[in-house]
Amino acid sequence: MAKANRVYKTAVPVTKNQEIEGEVIDITYQGMGVVKIDNFPIFVIDAIPGEVIKVGITKVLKNYAFGRVVSRIQESENRAEHVDKVAITTGIAPLANLKYDAQLAFKQHQIEQMFKKVNVSVEVKPTIGMADPTKYRNKAQVPVQLINGRLETGFYRRGSHKLVPVEDFYIQDPKVDEAVTVTRDILRDLGLSAYDEETNKGVVRHIMARRGYYSHELMVVIITNTKRLPEEQEIATRLQAKLPELKSFIHNINNHDTNVIMGQWNETIWGADEIHDQLMGKDFVIGPNSFYQVNPQTTATLYTLAAEKAGLKKTDTVVDAYSGIGTITLSIADKVKKIYGVEVVEGAVEDAEKNAKNNHIDNVEFVTADAPEQMVKWAEDGLKPNVVFVDPPRKGLTAELISAVSAMKPETFVYISCNPATLARDAVQILAEGFEIDGAVQPLDQFPQTTHVESITVFKRVAK
Ligand code: SAH
Repeated sequence: MAKANRVYKTAVPVTKNQEIEGEVIDITYQGMGVVKIDNFPIFVIDAIPGEVIKVGITKVLKNYAFGRVVSRIQESENRAEHVDKVAITTGIAPLANLKYDAQLAFKQHQIEQMFKKVNVSVEVKPTIGMADPTKYRNKAQVPVQLINGRLETGFYRRGSHKLVPVEDFYIQDPKVDEAVTVTRDILRDLGLSAYDEETNKGVVRHIMARRGYYSHELMVVIITNTKRLPEEQEIATRLQAKLPELKSFIHNINNHDTNVIMGQWNETIWGADEIHDQLMGKDFVIGPNSFYQVNPQTTATLYTLAAEKAGLKKTDTVVDAYSGIGTITLSIADKVKKIYGVEVVEGAVEDAEKNAKNNHIDNVEFVTADAPEQMVKWAEDGLKPNVVFVDPPRKGLTAELISAVSAMKPETFVYISCNPATLARDAVQILAEGFEIDGAVQPLDQFPQTTHVESITVFKRVAK
């Protein structure tokens, strides 16, 4: 059995094909169960904390190993019943083996652990979940491969590019799943070939489908390795016949040897160049390459709550850092005097500006820049916002950004985080710079069935 807390490492304690018994003590960020032998971690798909399992070692590396469940000696009471195994083995929904309540508790616990590690004592509220934590994604990007002579769509097996055929993606809008299978069937019927990464031959790489949650407008994009999409008009005609919600059918070219799914070149074969959706009472345009939140229901909850917690006033000047397509900025514009957004991706800033214009919002200003650099610049220019929102990517904030915010002396600093580890790290500096946490950290489940942990923390300035 595992010996806890050994501080030194001996030789690797397991060998390939060995079978050992152990208790699952944790879940990794990829949603794998962790079993430890002499403090040496073994990662196992579909094993959850509290379970005692027999593990067959499948791969041994210097600092860790992988294993598979040979048998479950003791099953956890948190194990969900009737779970689609493909959703777990592919990683579409790595937490789907946990009952939903246990998923929510797991996310709350993740944040508590991270704050504990940095010695910050704070209350973490129970995670706000979804009433129906399935079928929520409004977008699919599905790889296409030839398997036994047939064009298939699905999901890669974890850690590989081996396609597992999937029709029901469980966490995607069924209309989006339907758009993918309808497109797949048309491609099969017309005899189009699938792109092969190894030979660099073949045509279709991916199918992308997106549907407005409120608008019900549907976009289908076929991504090819070739300049031409054979039979494009016939595909368009058949798509329209089968998908009454279709508003936009686009051909996208990606002829680079890359893991990036979409190329930069688009041609609209039929319909509009973009679709629309509404979020928090505002209209957003969504082009084929635009970023748009994949779970609009919880995004609305998240940003509405963040705005509420900020206690916005009509006289406020606000900064929205890492502003993306301006979702936060545009949804709070009516409540405040002026908002400045900063975002590094030029296309996102263009979308944000377009969205501001379409919604007749003129008290906002977006800058394309690195957020830390721009915050330093604003601080030097003497900008004095009352409220600062940050919504950074997983790597979190930088020390310069936090110091710049501190120099601006806002009353309120709202941190929306998608990674508890960097949130806790940054909180240490924010507290040291003269802020305190207002109330508790509030987790929200933006991505049910996955290990993503989203939360809102409000800091209030106490220093003069
Ligand atoms: N609230 C936004 C999404 C934020 S996601 C919305 O709803 O649209 C985080 C954003 O940070 C992404 O748009 C990403 O492009 C941007 N980003 C990443 N690194 C950045 C940097 N160094 N400076 C500014 N923006 C950055």
